[in-house]
Amino acid sequence: MFCENCGKKIPDDAAFCTHCGAKQMGTSPSAQSVARVPPQPTRASAPQQQAQASGSVDLISMGQYLIMFLIMAIPIANIVMLFVWGFSSETGPNKKNFARATLIMMAIGIGVGILVSIVMAAIMASIMSTMYYY
Ligand SMILES: [Zn+2]
Repeated sequence: MFCENCGKKIPDDAAFCTHCGAKQMGTSPSAQSVARVPPQPTRASAPQQQAQASGSVDLISMGQYLIMFLIMAIPIANIVMLFVWGFSSETGPNKKNFARATLIMMAIGIGVGILVSIVMAAIMASIMSTMYYY
């Protein structure tokens, strides 16, 4: 750190400046350590996750699983419910993680599906065009 009075470089934990002897108030070790604490979001989210983990660990019962799989079989409704489960604060962590994982799987599936159909369309178009040219 640097001296508040003369601005010269002094040891980080120095209470007094080694050059001019001025007392270091604002940049005392304790104040520095407070400033070095990581930013707010990580601190705010950590206790929340702990509360969720220790407080209400939801075991998904067989009946709930049945309902979930039944809903998963209904088009559109399953996507809506996955979004509800994945982003609702009331949903337990197990179901939330399940919903998010399923959503990601669906997104990958849709993405791959679109990609495959584009490739297929391109192949078909090239075959068709060569057939017309001959
Ligand atoms: Zn100084």
